[in-house]
Amino acid sequence: MTVLILGGTAEARELALLLQARNVQFVSSLAGRVAQPRLPVGEVRIGGFGGVEGLTGHLKENGISAVVDATHPFARGISSNAVAACAQANVPLLRLERPGWESAPGSDSWIWVDTHEEAAETAARTGRAPFLTTGRQTLGHFLEPLADAAAVVRVVDAPEQVLPPSWTLLRSRGPYVLDGERELLRRHGCDVLVTKDSGGTHTWPKMVAAGELGLPVIVVRRKSRTAGVEVVIDHVAAGGWLVERGLA
Ligand code: NAP
Repeated sequence: MTVLILGGTAEARELALLLQARNVQFVSSLAGRVAQPRLPVGEVRIGGFGGVEGLTGHLKENGISAVVDATHPFARGISSNAVAACAQANVPLLRLERPGWESAPGSDSWIWVDTHEEAAETAARTGRAPFLTTGRQTLGHFLEPLADAAAVVRVVDAPEQVLPPSWTLLRSRGPYVLDGERELLRRHGCDVLVTKDSGGTHTWPKMVAAGELGLPVIVVRRKSRTAGVEVVIDHVAAGGWLVERGLA
């Protein structure tokens, strides 16, 4: 019996630690998007499976007894692939997803949008110096609407695209602290924050800093890819789910 953790998040690494401590056999899977990923404890495989078909085959060939999809709330394809593949291979699936910020302090004053395109158009109307924190893979949506803006972009790995000359590229990886976020917004004269509803605490300080400075905050809403799948919000609950079903 082997549990497959679809990872790339802090929650997935926490679950790996928990399963290792309980002597549960598991493998963590990473997409391989980040050049130097934070690795979980235990066995790790890296790279895509090859769509639903590839993942279904992987589950069957590797004797996977359960899948915990602990990927990022904005990972677009892998969560829906996991739903389809687990159904086809008849393997139980759990979604481990940190809660979003929809009820967080200040959330009713934020500008909620459905897509990154909408976030880009809204940012272009709202400010001259947006702080873009939606990630490298989303930057394409912002290039044209914000071509002349003094945008400040924060990413882990350098983007492939050439960025407009008026943009400032910052490379770093969270977690972040409030003092640093306040200082960054002030230093660059940012006048609007653009983020997705990642949830969790690691990137929360930017929201507090923007609130303190009275900046508008544009938040891209989550879209669930896992309708009908049981969801837990932390690794402890995920461990409980596995034990209850005799899967761990
Ligand atoms: P995505 O759009 O859902 O994934 C695209 C493809 O990448 C999937 O179809 C799959 O390829 C492969 N893939 C994704 N996650 C995988 C995993 N854990 N193990 C093996 N293959 C995986 O995801 P994404 O937005 O590019 O994110 C990639 C990874 O980065 C995710 O695992 C996620 O947890 C992590 N991450 C994403 C974000 C974000 O904002 N999107 C932020 C932090 C971390 P195949 O179809 O070939 O299987």
